[in-house]
Amino acid sequence: MTEFLYEGKAKKIFKTDNPEEYLVYFKDDATAFNAQKKGTVLEKGIINNKLSNYFFKIIESRGIPTHFVREISDRESIVKKVKIIPVEVIVRNKVAGSMAKRMGIDEGFILKYPTIEFSYKNDELGDPLMADSYVVALGLCSDDDFNTIKKYSMQINEILKEEMLKAEIILIDFKLEFGKTSDDTIILADEISPDTCRLWDAKTNEKLDKDRFRRDLGNVEGAYKEVLKRFLQ
Ligand code: UDP
Repeated sequence: MTEFLYEGKAKKIFKTDNPEEYLVYFKDDATAFNAQKKGTVLEKGIINNKLSNYFFKIIESRGIPTHFVREISDRESIVKKVKIIPVEVIVRNKVAGSMAKRMGIDEGFILKYPTIEFSYKNDELGDPLMADSYVVALGLCSDDDFNTIKKYSMQINEILKEEMLKAEIILIDFKLEFGKTSDDTIILADEISPDTCRLWDAKTNEKLDKDRFRRDLGNVEGAYKEVLKRFLQ
């Protein structure tokens, strides 16, 4: 028995018979610019479900706890129930997107070391960027939890960079979300997919991620399929 709980921009969440687990359904809906731009990317839900599970399994195997339990269909997975910490963590290896705009620096600039930044997860406000000190000061999570989140995020960057490189993909930047289980453990939640990462082909710099949708670059489906193929086919 599953009971509908919540519909987000790219996923639906259902309750399951297990009070500690949710079912996630990945949709083909795509949104950008705080949902002002809307569209559909055919089979995106299938690709993101499979890719996200693939990356979460690797991350878990390297000692970082994640919400992944099991994949149950092309578009559905069982995940651990968490209370999401309303902080979006963004890790960057090269400048792109909002950082390029904010700083007036060309996309592709190689950062001397990875950067980490935090946005307040609030659609009404458009996920505003926060000073690091806001996170604990505003009570979004404890100091200990914040330190864990920062440590995990930088470790996940190293793991993902290495995995992507094996598939001849450069990991430019990505967004993570963390949650707390009923026993107060911080775990990685949400998803890791071409919706939440910037991925450039290592040889050609071709964009293989949601920027194709955001910027109307064409062949969005093809790019998502290409990423899936490099990892899972
Ligand atoms: N990102 C995301 N969800 C958001 C905002 C950003 O998944 O609500 C991802 C985005 O796909 C990119 C990285 O986080 O890989 C950095 O995004 P940026 O801050 O450059 O913002 P954007 O250009 O998406 O406005």
